[in-house]
Amino acid sequence: KVYTGDEIRSLVKEQNVQFLRLMFTDLFGMIKNVEVPISQLDKLLDNKLMFDGSSIDGFVRIEESDMYLYPDLSTWMVFPWGNEHGKVARIICEVYTSDRKPFEGDPRNNLIRVLREMREAGFTDFNIGPEPEFFLLKLDENGEPTTKLNDKGSYFDLAPMDLGENCRRDIVLELEKLGFDVEASHHEVAPGQHEIDFKYADALSAADNIQTFKLVVKTVARKYNLHATFMPKPIDGINGSGMHLNMSLFGKDGNIFYDESDKDMQLSQQAYWFLGGLLKHARSFTAVCNPIVNSYKRLVPGFEAPVYVAWSGSNRSPLVRVPSSRGLSTRFEVRSVDPSANPYLAIASVLEAGLDGIKNKIDPEDSVDRNIYRMNAEERDDQHIVDLPSTLHNALKEFQVDPIMKKALGDHIYQSFLEAKKLEWASYRQEVTQWERDQYLEMF
Ligand code: GLN
Ligand code: MG
Ligand code: MG
Ligand code: MG
Repeated sequence: KVYTGDEIRSLVKEQNVQFLRLMFTDLFGMIKNVEVPISQLDKLLDNKLMFDGSSIDGFVRIEESDMYLYPDLSTWMVFPWGNEHGKVARIICEVYTSDRKPFEGDPRNNLIRVLREMREAGFTDFNIGPEPEFFLLKLDENGEPTTKLNDKGSYFDLAPMDLGENCRRDIVLELEKLGFDVEASHHEVAPGQHEIDFKYADALSAADNIQTFKLVVKTVARKYNLHATFMPKPIDGINGSGMHLNMSLFGKDGNIFYDESDKDMQLSQQAYWFLGGLLKHARSFTAVCNPIVNSYKRLVPGFEAPVYVAWSGSNRSPLVRVPSSRGLSTRFEVRSVDPSANPYLAIASVLEAGLDGIKNKIDPEDSVDRNIYRMNAEERDDQHIVDLPSTLHNALKEFQVDPIMKKALGDHIYQSFLEAKKLEWASYRQEVTQWERDQYLEMF
């Protein structure tokens, strides 16, 4: 709901809101917030609230650091917790420069731009249904997270195997209080691992929801003396955490992916092209959707995460799956994305990839309905199945040579992302790990 300024003013009175958390997201997907007392409300509603953006990752240099926060009034939300000093509400803001232009380094502004271009190309909505997974880890006596899992449960297990159940239920209740439409929540395959799925939304709201979701999960987990982590592969030898993205594209006549008359799959020509674009650019959007060194420890065979660029209507192992529902819910599920991705950037990158497919009529390769992990290299070659990048370094090489990624991120974010990620890789590359000492110290 888009509130008016006056509606916000009366909600503030009704609910005794005393503090406003003004939120935005940095380059790395971290939520940043400035908390202001309610006395600043008028200034905020008049787009007059300034902040210093110079030390925000991926934002600006010192000499141009004064920035404005423009509130998006549709994101108004009163937090159900912490009532002693009156309630706290949050508003997600768009970052504007001191000369009142949308700041290009704000990942949310960038997604707004990409969605505007999508509308100019004749589409109405891009809907996203995310499936974030996370681990609940025990805290030590100093309140620091350990790598001890809090249960021994597995896929869809029930209590008492699933000790995280109470915590997860509490998370779901808090999310519902905040207006989330939670569709499912279950124990995941790995011990200590959970998934909560909430209803799809338009791309911008979906990205906002992912950010709010992470905050709620982490906040509630602390109450149970647990640490919730969205790190893609916290523990080797067991499944990592993904954030599958279900996506559909709408035009004025509804879901454009659906076509009853297509005998095989009931997919439209545009759906096939969108898919062609996703597959063509999969290797280059990997850097955006799997942006940290650790992401690549998840993208290995044997743990239900994709390793190859392929799609299927039936099989769950490939990068893109077509879930069986049709009609309005005809969609693609991109399974490579992990929850360390900045959701605004990840969504912009897959959308731009798909739109490029439609624009250039890119046909996808044939679907692969056998288990790719049982195929040898030659069989994969015959079917034109390529690998996803195996490291952040390799992913950045692909990212750099694909102009569609520059289009998806815009020049400012593209440059700062690339610089930051190269540094991250350089730092990791210099590290000598325990694995190496275990393998080599005595051998050589
Ligand atoms: N955890 C798996 C992944 O990394 C997904 C498992 C599942 O949802 N069935 O993507
Ligand atoms: Mg799922
Ligand atoms: Mg899952
Ligand atoms: Mg899934």
